[in-house]
Amino acid sequence: MENHFKTNVIDLLKLDYGKSIKEATTMELYYAVSKAAMLSLEKEWGLNRSNKKVCYFSAEFLVGRLIYSNLLNCGLFHPFAELMSEHNLDIRLFEDIDDAALGNGGLGRLAACFLDSGATVGITLNGYGIRYKYGLFKQYFEDGFQKETADDWQNFGDPWSVRREEEKVKIVFKNQMVYAVPYDTPVIGYSKNTVNTLRLWQAEPLESFNFELFNEQKYDKAVKKKNEAEAISSILYPNDSTDAGKKLRLKQQYFFASASLQDLFNRYRKNFGHDFSGFPNEYAIQLNDTHPVVAIPEFIRLLMEEEHFTFAKAFRLAKVTFAYTNHTVMAEALEKWSISLFRAVIPQVYKYVVMLQKALLKELKTRGIADAEKQAPFMIIDKGLIYMARLAVYASHSTNGVAKLHTEILKQEVFKEWFEIYPERFHNKTNGITQRRWLALANMELAGFISDKIGNAWMTDLDKLKELERFQEDKTAIKQFDEIKKIKKTQLADYILKQEGIQINTDFIFDIQIKRLHEYKRQLLNAFSIMDIYFGLKEGRIKEFYPTVFIFGGKAAPGYFRAKGVIKYINEIAKLIDSDPQVNQRMKVVFVSNYNVSYAEKLTPAADVSEQISTAGTEASGTGNMKFMLNGAVTLGTFDGANVEIVEQAGGENNYIFGARIEDIEALKDSYDSNKIYKKNTRIKKVVDTLIDGTFDDGKTGMFKELYEALLKGASWHSPDHYYLLLDFIPYCEEKLKVNKAYSDTLAFRRQCFMNTANAGKFSSDRTIKDYAREVWKV
Ligand SMILES: *Cc1c(COP(=O)(O)O)cnc(C)c1O
Repeated sequence: MENHFKTNVIDLLKLDYGKSIKEATTMELYYAVSKAAMLSLEKEWGLNRSNKKVCYFSAEFLVGRLIYSNLLNCGLFHPFAELMSEHNLDIRLFEDIDDAALGNGGLGRLAACFLDSGATVGITLNGYGIRYKYGLFKQYFEDGFQKETADDWQNFGDPWSVRREEEKVKIVFKNQMVYAVPYDTPVIGYSKNTVNTLRLWQAEPLESFNFELFNEQKYDKAVKKKNEAEAISSILYPNDSTDAGKKLRLKQQYFFASASLQDLFNRYRKNFGHDFSGFPNEYAIQLNDTHPVVAIPEFIRLLMEEEHFTFAKAFRLAKVTFAYTNHTVMAEALEKWSISLFRAVIPQVYKYVVMLQKALLKELKTRGIADAEKQAPFMIIDKGLIYMARLAVYASHSTNGVAKLHTEILKQEVFKEWFEIYPERFHNKTNGITQRRWLALANMELAGFISDKIGNAWMTDLDKLKELERFQEDKTAIKQFDEIKKIKKTQLADYILKQEGIQINTDFIFDIQIKRLHEYKRQLLNAFSIMDIYFGLKEGRIKEFYPTVFIFGGKAAPGYFRAKGVIKYINEIAKLIDSDPQVNQRMKVVFVSNYNVSYAEKLTPAADVSEQISTAGTEASGTGNMKFMLNGAVTLGTFDGANVEIVEQAGGENNYIFGARIEDIEALKDSYDSNKIYKKNTRIKKVVDTLIDGTFDDGKTGMFKELYEALLKGASWHSPDHYYLLLDFIPYCEEKLKVNKAYSDTLAFRRQCFMNTANAGKFSSDRTIKDYAREVWKV
């Protein structure tokens, strides 16, 4: 098999391009290597398995670059590396291949990690989503401002997918009919344990070109239908944690939900005919956030219209089949559709939403919840809006949060009333990440070290990392661990030099905050703390300070003015510090451009400090925090999301937790006055004033002034300093200096990092998937 792989690569190059390895371009080699790996799956992929199949419905799959992880999981990494070295080629040459960025951030990346884990633990877990022509935009900076360009990820082709023409289905909208054509990508479990499928739907016109119109010289009309059809799967909405609320977005959601259901129904009929009562024994459907929730009324519609089910029977089947994962507590992200929009797009589905609402009202009455005020928090349809999260809780058997703390907030606040009537439906499934990508591939040096010490069983059983603890007093081991961190820091510095043209000193502490730009994630608070250190050093207030580079990465949604202002502000700080000889030997700021999965694979292993500083109660889980922990960084963070569990696992003494907790914020929120803090604390005032006192130039955009006013004046939609930056400012700066001081004792600090790696076992997505399999999907 392995030998076949090498000869297959050579044969494919000959066959397709008439070239030898030496003559082939990177792209040609990429094709040949990918196709040769695909050939090795012949036996395993598409194997007809009789067990229950789990379908993961998600509008986003942020898979990143597939070639290396697929080679690893196929067991072909070694023959590949051999082949490359035999021809004097660098195995990293495929780093020029763009990521498939079919997702915004954590939610999409979670879906990708879940697929990897599902195939590795050996369950049938198939992904269903949209094959966006353009993924998340690419980001670059111009004079410190974010600019966007289209992500044409199929530029290099898409050798990992197979078009299944014969399995296309029709999707009906009010004024439009299109085909959904599936493209299948193999999802390869480690050691090819199981090969599952990621099925992404592409929208296409029913007839590709209208020749009649063309012949009548109506050129525009001839292509119009084609363009309108293709528009449906043309672009990923660049919003993370906020609702896009656009007509095209609802079309996208229905498009992939209906296509996926029709597909499952077709398969089911082939095996079982028209007796759908056994459907939930064959399929479980997990809804990743509210984006695919329209699948529930569509499921009921299909059963009633095509299989002649009564509503009661169809509803019962839906409840057993579907489960829903909530990803955010922020109101603006809990999707609501206006009835008029919904009916303008998919009137045939609206009818079934109304039936669900009626059934709900009837049930509430039997439970003695009769008056309008008490019914309000349950209403699926209310005041012209359809509430998708409520629909999901009502018409599924399972609602879960993604970290312990988050699930508690769901039970006690967001879905409080629902929890009272359906306590058995709510449960927690703390997120995870796959150690195959985030350790074995991203940090081969650390992976090798770990396997030397405790063997390589951690590849499929991350709890094994705990065995590392017996080396915690072993100075040689900790020094080796430190050396590896140094190597990863050097590699990252080289990459940043190449990518951004910026030189960083690898002797500095690497303090990293990488994630989507959002007010709740508080990149601005981090920026403020850096300014406070800057002034502290200049004034002599801070005497001891270990040189630190503060690295940022992340994209702002193109229409998110404030988030873009924060990027510009951080880039301005970087400039100020660089040009100040009084401090530029002791601190540096870098905002790397176009943060994506591949960049994350370089950044996480190089971090000493992981910044996870969201306002308590706002970050559902976070998964970036887990990648850092696994790779041996300490967390500088708030008591929020999965940070709580990270500290629980790795110990408070090995992490740096600061700031207001949920209950603190709850207690003071009504009387919170950011102005008072601002006026009273000269350090805070000095830093915040840099937004308006001419220290920085925002190119007359008004961005900095707007940030200033958001903190002190608020806006119609938010109170001043809605995310409590000024409240946490001083505790944060203090904790940051504490980490800084701790770093000077290299051995002690590196032992803290080591203890984080040793206790990261819980955060494997293998564990998460096994929990879902047992408790939700019953497989
Ligand atoms: C892991 C990951 C995220 C999620 O990061 P958080 O810090 O949890 O928000 C976002 N984007 C990319 C590219 C990632 O790899």
